[in-house]
Amino acid sequence: MRYLSTRGQAPPASFSEALLAGLAPDGGLYVPESFPSFDPSSFDPAAPIPELASEILTPFVDGDPLGEQISAICRRAFDFPMPLVPLARDTSVLELFHGPTAAFKDFGARFLAHCFERLLAERGEVLTVLVATSGDTGAAVAAACHLREGIRVGVLFPKGGVAPRQEQQLTCWDRNVSSFAVRGNFDDCQRVVKDAFTRGGWPPSGGLSSANSINVGRLLPQAVYYGIASMRYVAEHGAIPGVIVPSGNVGNAVGAFWAKTMGFPIRHIAMASNENRVVPDWFESGSWDPRPSKPTLANAMDVGDPSNMERLFHLYPERRAMIENSSSMEVDDATIRKTIAAGIDRWGQVWCPHTATAVHFREQMEAPHWIVVATAHPAKFDSIVEPLIGRDVPVPPGLVELLARPTKVTEIDAAFEPMAAELDGASG
Ligand SMILES: *Cc1c(COP(=O)(O)O)cnc(C)c1O
Repeated sequence: MRYLSTRGQAPPASFSEALLAGLAPDGGLYVPESFPSFDPSSFDPAAPIPELASEILTPFVDGDPLGEQISAICRRAFDFPMPLVPLARDTSVLELFHGPTAAFKDFGARFLAHCFERLLAERGEVLTVLVATSGDTGAAVAAACHLREGIRVGVLFPKGGVAPRQEQQLTCWDRNVSSFAVRGNFDDCQRVVKDAFTRGGWPPSGGLSSANSINVGRLLPQAVYYGIASMRYVAEHGAIPGVIVPSGNVGNAVGAFWAKTMGFPIRHIAMASNENRVVPDWFESGSWDPRPSKPTLANAMDVGDPSNMERLFHLYPERRAMIENSSSMEVDDATIRKTIAAGIDRWGQVWCPHTATAVHFREQMEAPHWIVVATAHPAKFDSIVEPLIGRDVPVPPGLVELLARPTKVTEIDAAFEPMAAELDGASG
C-alpha cells in the first residue's frame, strides 16, 4: 500500500515514511492510495478488538517494514475497552474514553507511539516528536510515548489556556517527555512547532515528526473503531446505523468516512460542530471559509480551519457525493449547557461538553438508528459539568492515577530557542 499527498505534488510514500514525515513535502496530507473492500459478514464483531483491528489494518501496512508486526502493535496499543452502550431502542453510545487519558485520542496516539518505537528500534535513532495542543492531543501523545525507546516528546500548550485537569495530564511526565507552558495562545504554540520544522538543522541528531492529527498513523486506528462499532450495532439491532461525531479538526470523522468507504455498515456520518461553524457553513453554502477560532465549552473542537477537511475533499471530489453521505450542525454553548443539564433526567447519563454536541444532534433527528460518539469522559471537564448537574462526577481509576502524579513544566516565551535548549538539555 502506498500513501499519496492530497495535493498530488509529492512522491508516493510507504506507510512508515508517511508516519515519520507527518506532513507530505508538498504541504498536503497523506491518504491511502486505495481502500480495501471488506465484507462485514466475514468478521466476528464479538472478537477481541486487537484481533479485529489487526485484520482491518493489515492491507494498509502491506509491503511495509511494520507489516509483520501489525498484530503485536494492535495488541499493545488497543488494550482498553470501547463499549457500545445502549441509550434508547434505536440509539447507542460508543464510549471512546476508556484509554489512559480518558479521550478518544488515546487510540490514535497509542498506535502511532508503538509504530514509532518499532521503526526507531530498527534504525537505532531517536525521533523528536513535537505536539502543539489545546488539551487532549498533548495528553494522549505524552502518555502514549512516555518511557518508549527512541522517542523524545515536547508538548506545548498555552499557559492558562487549558482546563486544570487537562493541564495536570499535560505536565505529569518526566524522562523522555517535556512539557512547555507557552506564554501565548494555541496559535503561538503552533508557530513554535512550525519554526522547528522549517528552520532545518534541528534536532542535532535523528528525525523530527509531529503527532497532530495530520499524521495518517493517528487516523487509521480511528477507522477501525467505526468498523467494529457499526458491525456490533448491526448484530444487535439488525439495522444499519448512522454515526454522530463531535468534530473539530475532523480527524475523528475522517475515520468514519474511511470505514464506510471500506464497506462497513455506516448509513450516514453527522458531524456535530460547536460555535466554530466552518463545517456546517460549508454544508449550507458550498463555500469553504476558514476563520480564526473562538473559545467554546467544547474546547477540543475549537478549530477555525479544520485541516482534515482536505482529506474529505480528496475522498469526495464532488460536493454532491459528500452531502449524500453526511451532514453537519452547529451546537452553541447555551445548547451544550442545556444538553448536559438535562442528560441525567432525559438519558440517565452525564456528558462531556464535546459529547453533548452529538447528543443534541441526535435529539434533533427523526430517523432511527444512530451511534452517538462519546469522545471524552465527563470527569475531565468537571469544572464545566459539575455545576450544571449539581453533583460530583466520579473519576475513573486511570484518571485518578494521572491526577495523583507529580508535575513538571517549563514556562517559556513563544519562541523556538528556549524550547530547543530545554529539550536538548533534558535528553543530554
Ligand atoms: C480532539 C477532540 C475532538 C475533536 O476531534 P477532531 O478529530 O479534531 O474532529 C472532540 N472531542 C474531544 C474530547 C477531543 O479531544
